Amino acid sequence: MLADLYVRNGQIVTEQAVFYGGVVVKAGKIAQLVQGNPELAAQEVIDLAGKSLLPGLIDAHVHFSEPGRAHWEGFRTGTMAAAAGGITTVIEMPLNASPPTIDAENLHAKQAAAAQESVVDYALWGGLVTNNLDKLDELHHGGVVALKAFLSSSGSDFVRIDDDLLYAGLLQARELGTLVGVHAENEWVTRYLMEKLQALGRKDTAAWGEARPPATELEAIQRVLFWAKETGGQLHIVHVSLAAGIQMAALAKQAGVNVTVETCPHYLLFDEQDFARIGPMAKCAPPLRARAEVEALWQAVLHNQVDLIASDHSPCLLEEKTRGNDDVWLAWGGISGLQTLLPALLTEGVQRRGLTLPALTRMTAANPARIFGLYPQKGTLLPGADADLVIIDPHKTWVLTTDQLFYKNPHSAFVGYEFMGRVEQTIVRGVTVFRDGEIQGQPGFGQLQVRGV
Ligand SMILES: [Zn+2]
Repeated sequence: MLADLYVRNGQIVTEQAVFYGGVVVKAGKIAQLVQGNPELAAQEVIDLAGKSLLPGLIDAHVHFSEPGRAHWEGFRTGTMAAAAGGITTVIEMPLNASPPTIDAENLHAKQAAAAQESVVDYALWGGLVTNNLDKLDELHHGGVVALKAFLSSSGSDFVRIDDDLLYAGLLQARELGTLVGVHAENEWVTRYLMEKLQALGRKDTAAWGEARPPATELEAIQRVLFWAKETGGQLHIVHVSLAAGIQMAALAKQAGVNVTVETCPHYLLFDEQDFARIGPMAKCAPPLRARAEVEALWQAVLHNQVDLIASDHSPCLLEEKTRGNDDVWLAWGGISGLQTLLPALLTEGVQRRGLTLPALTRMTAANPARIFGLYPQKGTLLPGADADLVIIDPHKTWVLTTDQLFYKNPHSAFVGYEFMGRVEQTIVRGVTVFRDGEIQGQPGFGQLQVRGV
């Protein structure tokens, strides 16, 4: 049978190696990897001309806020930004949509919106909140790949949990064969410090960080690791901002705890000085840290202690940010960073710190696929996998401007950043969805991904 697509003459990146060769695609799947540059018959041929080809990225942490708040983002604009960023599968969070994804009914509403609008493939998180323990079963069987919980207040209508539900949720997740993803910050100490700083009249960006110091994150990480060990439940700690937190998880892993950890590009690119310079656009929780913490976090990444890197794309209306210009407490806490996940890691990781492309691929494709039960259909170039591919020019230098953003609200803390490495083309199941700055994929093309059996 004639191949549908032959991508040839470039650097092929897997999580094990980089080699000169090509990829053959048939019926939306990887048919074969080839070494060198042989002549092969195919309907369509793409000449990489020495550029690099990676497995399409899986961003395991995005908020599209649809249904209910699609004017903040939505599956159409969110997955267009994903396509432009080389991301072929997103895993979307249960909060910021209204209602949040905490039972089967709300899940079905989200699945309907996603099915109609998505340009790339997607999977969904469900929520573990107060009083929905009896809904976890229907969420899991309805297709969510993981359950998200907050130990500290989320800043939205998504209700935080205490240790009782963390304990019960981990036990139930273990029964179901899924995982609990935890936002790990201490509610009580952050609240105490915030109220104290507010009473002093502090409204500056530094106050946001002072209300959420490293100890408040590390205590929560220590606590969730303890309960993961006690219950045997599978734990994923989202957006860890501190190398010390990554190392706690690494020690717990050695002791047999079933835990994985995530960090985000904003913790790797920005520090608290950048927050002061950029303003509320860079407000997030946990907050941006001191420069020494940023470099320590890079060391954890380079030493293979971080399981995955995700964007925590958390968009909002521009006014939700600007209202905090003179009072940081009023700004939305979240950074729009989906489209720049890969360029950020290429620039500050690969170009500046010697991160290898296979390691990048492991943290942004293979590992997220494994953790969320999508491997080996997703996250790899193994024959038989979905032909999800991204072509990058690793040497192209460019500056992010708002007019390049596909977000519903085109603003981001990354605007103005000079990147080295650009996404040229993104292919989902053999079909080009983004090429040379243009979206080519159709809304409704993206397919729901569920845990494999
Ligand atoms: Zn998030």
